Amino acid sequence: MNLSRSEELFAQAQKYIPGGVNSPVRSFRAVGGTPPFIARGQGPRVWDVDGNEYIDYLGSWGPLVLGHAHPVVVQALHKAAEGGTSFGAPVEQEVELAKMICDAFPSVDSVRLVNSGTEACMSAIRLSRAFTGRNKIIKFAGCYHGHADGLLVKAGSGAMTHGIPTSAGVPESYASETLVADFNDLASVEQFFNANPDGIAGIIVEPVAGNMGVVPPAEGFLEGLRRITSQAGSLLIFDEVITGFRLEYGGAQTKFGITPDITTLGKIIGGGLPVGAYGGRTDIMEMVAPLGPMYQAGTLSGNPLAVAAGVATLNELKKPGVYQHIDGLAQKLTDGLSDIFVKHEVPGTINRVGSMFTGFFNPGPVEILTHVEKSDVESHKRFFHAMLERGIYTAPSQFEAGFVSLAHTQAEVDQTIEIAEEALKSMR
Ligand SMILES: *Cc1c(COP(=O)(O)O)cnc(C)c1O
Repeated sequence: MNLSRSEELFAQAQKYIPGGVNSPVRSFRAVGGTPPFIARGQGPRVWDVDGNEYIDYLGSWGPLVLGHAHPVVVQALHKAAEGGTSFGAPVEQEVELAKMICDAFPSVDSVRLVNSGTEACMSAIRLSRAFTGRNKIIKFAGCYHGHADGLLVKAGSGAMTHGIPTSAGVPESYASETLVADFNDLASVEQFFNANPDGIAGIIVEPVAGNMGVVPPAEGFLEGLRRITSQAGSLLIFDEVITGFRLEYGGAQTKFGITPDITTLGKIIGGGLPVGAYGGRTDIMEMVAPLGPMYQAGTLSGNPLAVAAGVATLNELKKPGVYQHIDGLAQKLTDGLSDIFVKHEVPGTINRVGSMFTGFFNPGPVEILTHVEKSDVESHKRFFHAMLERGIYTAPSQFEAGFVSLAHTQAEVDQTIEIAEEALKSMR
């Protein structure tokens, strides 16, 4: 595979940008080699600057549920840009997006738009503290909620891949307010509540873990978190930055029938532009300025371009049968991949929830972080490159989710399975 132009660009990038990338997960550190610089995308495919074509299962790490450059999104962006890109004053379309979110999520009476999932989670934590008057937060090892100081503790993929358990530059005093429990282990949560009965503001959780690779919630886990927080007067925060509008129109909370107190969103609701959101019950959201004492603001929040792309995307997702279709396609893909792993006697486990999936090089089952960590990252690395060379773009780390979009078809799925078989054979 010719990557000469990408190699040139990466060399330049490393001079001007730390590590050559604006987000560490793009750097290919875990798998080695040069990240292809992407020139354009269309539907389920992307092309790099050397003209190599790939079927894309990264989907910009989750937002691109419609695929690349969906005509409806492109048209909405054109129209919005022609009318001006930012005013720092209210615009009609931000109300439309907010209403769509409130209508989709029964637990969300009102919602504040921000510019990233990081901001959404950071603000949700502040809100849970403002509302309860308590300081401690529980998060789960392997879950990622953006890079705010207090949340960068055992924070999954990026940090796991790069071997940084907790970031440098985070004061211990901040990190000490974060208690780290084990995903799918209610006893590890109860132990903190027993030790701090009145000290815990809330629990933040990815209802389906996506940032240690996909790990579904165990039977009763989310229900247990709901029960424990309600009894203790703490808030339950669902981080639906990936799962919101991905697993169902109403997110994981609709799929599993659990009502959190605060929900954070991002990724899909921006249709590929930078957006985040946090919302919840009226009495909680009334704490947020200008109504209440919790301050949170943003020059570009509710940006006309971002909300236009978001509204256009959600309108597509509202159509009947969308989730059945995308989940069915993802199932065909993961069933096909499982079959070839079995056929070629490669120990592997594919976890899938809806249209998000991870193939672990691990005989399985992969149900908790300890299992995830036992995956064979050397085999993943070789498989990743064998796939990339053959035109399949997946996340450059074992500990990430892959995404099927509405732009993928049976043809791409068949092609992917065929190529995966060749890739496995080439690894012998
Ligand atoms: C991506 C992600 C975030 C952070 O969102 P950014 O827009 O990258 O800041 C937070 N939570 C989860 C679950 C995510 O996957």
